Amino acid sequence: MTQYDVVIIGGGPGGYNAAIRAGQLGLKVACVERRKTLGGTCLNVGCIPSKALLNASEMFYEARTGFASLGIKVNPELDLPQMHKQKDESVTALTKGVEFLFRKNKADWIKGEARLAGPGKVIVRSEDGAEQTLEAKNIVIATGSEPSRVPGVEVDQERIVDSTGALAIPQVPGRLIVIGGGIIGLELGSVWRRLGAEVEVVEFLDRIIPGADAEIASAFQRTLTKQGLKFRLGMKVTGAQTSDAGVKLTVEPRAGGAAETLEADVVLVAVGRRPYTGELGLESVGIKPDGRGFIDTDHYKTSAPGVWAIGDVTHGPALAHKAEDEAVACIELIAGKAGHVNYDVIPAVIYTAPEVAWVGKTEEELKGAGVKYKAGKFPFAANSRAKVNHETDGFVKVLADAQTDRILGVHMIGPEVGEMIGEYCVAMEFGAASEDVARTSHPHPTRSEALRQAAMGVEGWTMQA
Ligand code: FAD
Ligand code: NAD
Repeated sequence: MTQYDVVIIGGGPGGYNAAIRAGQLGLKVACVERRKTLGGTCLNVGCIPSKALLNASEMFYEARTGFASLGIKVNPELDLPQMHKQKDESVTALTKGVEFLFRKNKADWIKGEARLAGPGKVIVRSEDGAEQTLEAKNIVIATGSEPSRVPGVEVDQERIVDSTGALAIPQVPGRLIVIGGGIIGLELGSVWRRLGAEVEVVEFLDRIIPGADAEIASAFQRTLTKQGLKFRLGMKVTGAQTSDAGVKLTVEPRAGGAAETLEADVVLVAVGRRPYTGELGLESVGIKPDGRGFIDTDHYKTSAPGVWAIGDVTHGPALAHKAEDEAVACIELIAGKAGHVNYDVIPAVIYTAPEVAWVGKTEEELKGAGVKYKAGKFPFAANSRAKVNHETDGFVKVLADAQTDRILGVHMIGPEVGEMIGEYCVAMEFGAASEDVARTSHPHPTRSEALRQAAMGVEGWTMQA
């Protein structure tokens, strides 16, 4: 039996960052991961491969449709196996990088499936069936999440795929139906649209990307429609039939009405993710997940002494950087330090083109809470860099407290806004007022000037046009 200060279950952004931080702080740490590589959903079948395909498909689309007007004549041809290969190479490089960081920080990677076996004990079953018991003063559950399912729509990863299958489709489908107009559906729907598929999104609600600011969501839908994506909002999927010819999907209006049959070569199910706690032995330490399967925590502590939980398996946004931030805070608390995460400043980005990015409260949330706020807005159509780059779609919106001017939320759609939202994260972390950003020099000509102009707009003194 090996004795550890910390045993972490799961080697995703939550688990691997926890292991590295524990190693840095001199704790004896092991991380149990059952996949063949470290990095979890994010590195293996999530953030990284999806962004590799988003980048490559965007280049292909630009070469086909955008270069000619710049005076560049090309005749691009799609080599999909190579596109998948470069994606796989990025994944391998990054998962190997995490292995290297484990070695550097003296964190043990125990390969196998872990389960709790009473206080302070974790049993690991390796692929060949052998079991070993680890003893730990602290156990961190970082088992992440898995795709949610739609009843009657059986995922076979060929005709009906989830996000993992959608990252590895071997041929561009003629027609792709995406169930769910959330982040995964719109990112991966965009990938296959750019590569030539007809894409239709079937969404249960009357809007896309619930959780995002409503004005941004409708601007985003208009932009995606211009790119050729079709939308059926307020629709319920009631079943799917698969054959060699494709998939027949039955849908009906959520509010009631006649059912319809839609046909597709491939259907992508992207209706959210659910926490993963399967066969984890939670009952052996008295932890009972809530009705939706999440583990309740208070500053990462579960109801069981010495057992902590972080990342997608807990409440809050299912985002890699949220898991990573919680990992660092949780280990620092275990080490007797003051670990802390500011949940008001966790950004979100949708990596389409244009990108969508936000941080803090939406207008709907502020109105719902009765907070008085002022808004400043600036369109990329009036930003010089966006104009010369022919990327004028979108705008920046800054929401600030009407009395104190403190920035409460920032919402953007436009070129590279995912890279630029960090500026507002830092500003908000430091408690900035919109005037602080408005009076900060920004380089010209850059897209980042639109961020400043939107802040100037809060007090009505926007200048560029
Ligand atoms: P995970 O990454 O899910 O890791 C959990 C790990 O635990 C897994 O590797 C699993 O094998 C292992 N495990 C589970 N149970 C056991 C057990 N009993 N024993 C041993 N090992 C176990 N987020 C972003 O912030 N930005 C993005 O761009 C982004 N893109 C995404 C794209 C897609 C297609 C998907 C699906 C997700 C994306 N996400 C993105 C979300 C992000 O991947 C997750 O929020 C993040 O991976 C959560 O980290 P985690 O450590 O909590 O869990
Ligand atoms: P999501 O919660 O973002 O969107 C799911 C969508 O499906 C919602 O619009 C919901 O109303 C809809 N829906 C639910 N049930 C439905 C049904 N039966 N029929 C039709 N529509 C239905 O979930 P997702 O897109 O699957 O992504 C999961 C999570 O992964 C995200 O919430 C996000 O946290 C994370 N993620 C992040 C990124 C990123 O940061 N760029 C990228 C991908 C995934």
